[in-house]
Amino acid sequence: MHFTVVLSHDVDRTYKSYQFMTKALQSLRSGKIKQALYHKFSVFLKNPYWNFDRIIAIEKAHDVKSTFFFLDESIKFRPFQPANWGLSLGRYKIDSPKIAEIIRWLDKNGWEIGLHGSYCSYNSSLLLAKEKKRLENIVGHEIIGIRQHFLNVNEETWQLQSETGFGYDASFGFTRDIGFKDNRYRPFFPLKENENFLVIPMALMDECLMHKKDIQKEYLDIMDATEKNNGVLVLNWHQRIFNEKEYPGYSKVYEEIIEEGKKRKAKFALMGDIYQEYAHRRRIAN
Ligand SMILES: [Zn+2]
Repeated sequence: MHFTVVLSHDVDRTYKSYQFMTKALQSLRSGKIKQALYHKFSVFLKNPYWNFDRIIAIEKAHDVKSTFFFLDESIKFRPFQPANWGLSLGRYKIDSPKIAEIIRWLDKNGWEIGLHGSYCSYNSSLLLAKEKKRLENIVGHEIIGIRQHFLNVNEETWQLQSETGFGYDASFGFTRDIGFKDNRYRPFFPLKENENFLVIPMALMDECLMHKKDIQKEYLDIMDATEKNNGVLVLNWHQRIFNEKEYPGYSKVYEEIIEEGKKRKAKFALMGDIYQEYAHRRRIAN
């Protein structure tokens, strides 16, 4: 059977800020003293959330590439609404030299760059267009892929994304679980107005899988289902979780899934390749 594995990374934050405090408190509350101490003192470590070098090394070792979705968040900080901190604090400036440099490096070396649409952009053409343009200015060419932050999507989002010039959306999936939402094992074209706009579903997100009891059984089951349906299995491993100290075992499982896919002779592709392939097939069929 033929199936495809697609690797992707949402880049939510590239440095640790208020999490030194909140993560330490969470760990203390759950009785994990060692973890709490790590969080408290990791402020002295160099960039625990950077991790790009580590991801690149892992993927090079397995001869695979991935799609990175970069966030251009502009939501305002509200000091008296802690629920807002995760959205507004610790974010990076997409056009700061260090971020722009890694984006350009990835782009030039065969990785794919997509936009991680900001929290409020799912219903704002203005934000979508602004964020797309800014990322395009960094890479120097068109950006065709998007995944919305928190997978925020409503009935209009795909239409708005398509009107803004995106070719595909990668936000279709569960926020707190794993598996194929609505049994969509393959990408699909949801719009009548733009027949070429593709949705590429996501089935495996790091934390949702890692919180399962039998992690290996869960991902093997999902891979079986993908294989049986000639499907496309999209992984989303946030780049911050490649920090082994804070997220022990996460990157190991990422590698295991890649190895399992290789063992089963899966094809590995970038999101953009899937988009081209489906658009091409559609042209032939029409
Ligand atoms: Zn996100």
